[in-house]
Order: sequence, then C-alpha cells, then structure tokens
Amino acid sequence: MKIYRGGNVFVAHQLLILGNGFDLHCGLKSSYNDFFRKTIIDTAGEKFGLIKKQPNVNGFWEGLLLEYYRAYGNSNEDWCAIENIILQTLISVCINIDQNYPLSIWSMAASQIHQDNIDKIINTPIKKYLFNYCRYYYNRLINEPESVKFNLFLAHLLQELHNFEKRFCKYLKDNIINPQNKKINEGYVLNAANLIAALTGSTGANHRTMDDIFHNNNALFHSFRDLLSTHVLNFNYTALSDIVTTQDICYHINVHGKLCNEQCGENCTKSSIILGIDDKIIQSRDEYAPLRIFSKTYRKMMLEESPLGILPRAYEDLLKIKFYGHSLSEADYSYFQSIFDYYNLYGNNNVSLIFYYSEGYDQTDAIYRLVNSYGRTLTNRDQGKNLIHKLLLENRLIIKKID
Ligand SMILES: [Zn+2]
Repeated sequence: MKIYRGGNVFVAHQLLILGNGFDLHCGLKSSYNDFFRKTIIDTAGEKFGLIKKQPNVNGFWEGLLLEYYRAYGNSNEDWCAIENIILQTLISVCINIDQNYPLSIWSMAASQIHQDNIDKIINTPIKKYLFNYCRYYYNRLINEPESVKFNLFLAHLLQELHNFEKRFCKYLKDNIINPQNKKINEGYVLNAANLIAALTGSTGANHRTMDDIFHNNNALFHSFRDLLSTHVLNFNYTALSDIVTTQDICYHINVHGKLCNEQCGENCTKSSIILGIDDKIIQSRDEYAPLRIFSKTYRKMMLEESPLGILPRAYEDLLKIKFYGHSLSEADYSYFQSIFDYYNLYGNNNVSLIFYYSEGYDQTDAIYRLVNSYGRTLTNRDQGKNLIHKLLLENRLIIKKID
C-alpha cells in the first residue's frame, strides 16, 4: 500500500493488534467460560444443583476455577477472568492474604497456627481451598529441607498451570477442527478471513465459501498479497494461516503463544500457550520478585522468539497501529508501552492509533485510560498530560466502528 504525499512515496505500514475479542466475534467459543462449561464442570449434575467437576478432571487451577464458579458464577459474568485469578491467587498464597493480614496462605499452612485463628482468617471457600491445598502440598514435602519447600511449591503451581494450558489448547483445537469427523469450523474461518480483510483495508478479499479459500491454490495468500506491509500482533492463540495451512499471509506473531500444530489428543505436548501475569505488576513491588516465573514476559523469553521482534521499522514510514477486540486491560500494558516507546508516539507524527470496535463494544474509557497511563510514563510530565489532546489535534487517535 503506497501513499503519495507531496511527490514523495511513503510506504504505509500497519501494525494490527488483535485481542481475544477477535476470535470470539468470529464465532470461536474461546472464552474461559465456554471452556469451563465444556471441559471442567459437570453440567448434568448442575441441573440438580450439584456443582462439581467432571469425572477425571484434576488439577489445582481446575479446582480453583470451580470454587470461583461457586462463589461468583451466577452473579458476575466476568467470574472467570483467568489471568486476574492467577494474579490474586499468587499474591494471597505467596505474599499476603489481603491488605489486613500480612501472612501468606502458604506460610500459615506451613506453621503451627491455632485452628481458631485459621478459621478467623481463612473465612471463604476460596481461601479454604487454597489453604487446604497448601497444607496438603506442604505435608507432601516432609523430607525436603525447609528452605526449598516454598520454591518447590511455586514450581509445582507453574507445572499445574502448564497442564491447564494444555487442556485449553485441546479445547480450542477441538472447536476449530471437530475431533470426531475432522470437519473444520467453516463459519469461524470465513469470518476471521473477512474480518482481517476489513480491518486491514484489503480490497481483494471477500470469502463467501470455503472453496474461495481452499480450492483456489493458496487463494488466501493471494487475496492478502497486498498486505505484505502488515504486521499482526495476535493475542489469541490461533493463527489463520495454520488452520488453512497456507504460507504466512503477513508478518504474524501470537504474543502469548499458540496452539500446537498437530492434533493434540489427551497429551498435548507442543502447545506454547502462555497464561500468566504482567511483568509490570511484578516489578511494582520488591516482594513480588519470586512470582516472576509466572510473568508472561519472562516465560516468553524462554521461547525462541520475541513478540516485539516483528514490529515494522520505526521512524521512516507512515504507520497505522490498529487495535481490534483487545480489552486494553492493564494486564497487557507492558506491550503497549514498549510499542509506543519504540515509535516515540508523542513526537512522531507518522504514527497514528486507530481503535476499531464492533457494535456494542465501544471502549472509549479503556482507550482514555491506556493513553493516559502511557502519558504518565513519559519523562516529561507536561507532555504526558497533553498526550491525548495532542493526538486528537493531529488526527492521530481515531476510534472507528467496523461493520
Ligand atoms: Zn495442543
């Protein structure tokens, strides 16, 4: 895509940031609530008021989700914001139970504290679940030196999280390709292809049937050919090009890992899905340091590629940074901050932000919070304060509904 400006040729690059709303909007049942209902809770028993796990479902996080469901499942539709649950759990288990109580659940479970005191502080079913799990695991470590028990416990929770991620991988893959009849979820694939086309302004693509994609050798690749200057940072665990097995349509990376490529049966081994907490939170307090093994940035570093390695070059060209379907929650501020820094958002007139949304998902408040929060990180305080104003004035902050 070329834009002619005063006789000079500028190449317009775009960086498309896709949040979980993308897959959901395209009809993939990728929410944790759908995942929970399909793979963890026994929905047959629920009809009779029995809230329990499906037979053969074990695991620390699976059990914890069930407790959250019992506590909030009926009253709060956001009850299974999994990364928030991970964060709250790690803090109360490892750092302190709450603001009023300085001990962690682990240290309580590891001490000879009087039952009356336990009952006073461990006073909700979720806390009880965590306390009992800590005590059970502490007792299992009876032969280990006291000094290593806590770290072994943390490593165990991380291993449990890996198992949970694999369960999620299998669930998503079964939703994309039916494991029984091997049929592909056509509605999702078509919606995804067409939505990417709409977001990137690709004119050549309008896929009505799967034949448009499959029976025309590498059709998907060809119809998106003009998008070679598009870079996609995808916060979903899916990649369209993997599903329809074409070459990569454009520069594309799954920020928090992606589904394994093979059919994963009972033992998914290759999934690189990363659930965790934001690095910024860990750096916010010294005592959070032991939790860094749960940092998404830290875990991504363990994989071969850096998500920010695919950013289009800075400074030289026009760049549109487009957002779709991302909640813009604090959990991912680290990424956005790095991106805005990299392009010098404040001073670089070549860079604009475009926030796309679908009917009913207006997110003006979240955008305001994100940009303001970024503004506060600028060394020049005054610049930070007028960042939104400046971006609007220069037509570099656009909010747009997409059909
Ligand atoms: Zn897998």
